[in-house]
Amino acid sequence: MKKYNYCINCEKKIYDKLICDDCMEFINKNPAFSYPIDGIEFLEIGATYSGLLKKILLRFKFNNKLSYEEILGDIMIEKLLKYNLDDYVITSVPMTKKREDKRGYNQARLLAKYIGRELDLEYVEVFEKIKETPFQVGLGESERKKNLENSFALKNYSENILITDDVITTGTTISELVKVARENGIKKVAAIVTATEIA
Ligand SMILES: [Zn+2]
Repeated sequence: MKKYNYCINCEKKIYDKLICDDCMEFINKNPAFSYPIDGIEFLEIGATYSGLLKKILLRFKFNNKLSYEEILGDIMIEKLLKYNLDDYVITSVPMTKKREDKRGYNQARLLAKYIGRELDLEYVEVFEKIKETPFQVGLGESERKKNLENSFALKNYSENILITDDVITTGTTISELVKVARENGIKKVAAIVTATEIA
């Protein structure tokens, strides 16, 4: 998006981006969080899942506003710049084919591919979801864990991987993927998530 544009929030005329600097200030990009995940190199989270960020993410996910990947992806990239990711590939939390067909796309994969293009990281489909699980909304941590057990499998091996997801609640999904990765001999596993619900 390299042209005149109107801020998606306040409609002010801007150049070369989708959201103006003033509106960007409404997004809390320093969420306080703590997710103890065994065997992970690092977990970074772009923002708090509230207010304007939540609105943008929901439109991206459910209203087909795919260009918003740029806003969300750039917030995530800011958190990654301090790492040397030269020997990493980027991947995403998988959906079952059925669920993806229903939505038409996998938002976590779109974000991963955007970040990969910007940071020069190869995108690899490392995982697949082999079991449909009920939506996790409203469930406690132990129920989520039970639901997700054995629902992911390795599809393509890479030595070091950066997993991308959009929202983190209890951290169960990332934990489960780290477990699968480590069991399959993947050396380094890191994760970047757009937003945390807990902050
Ligand atoms: Zn604005």
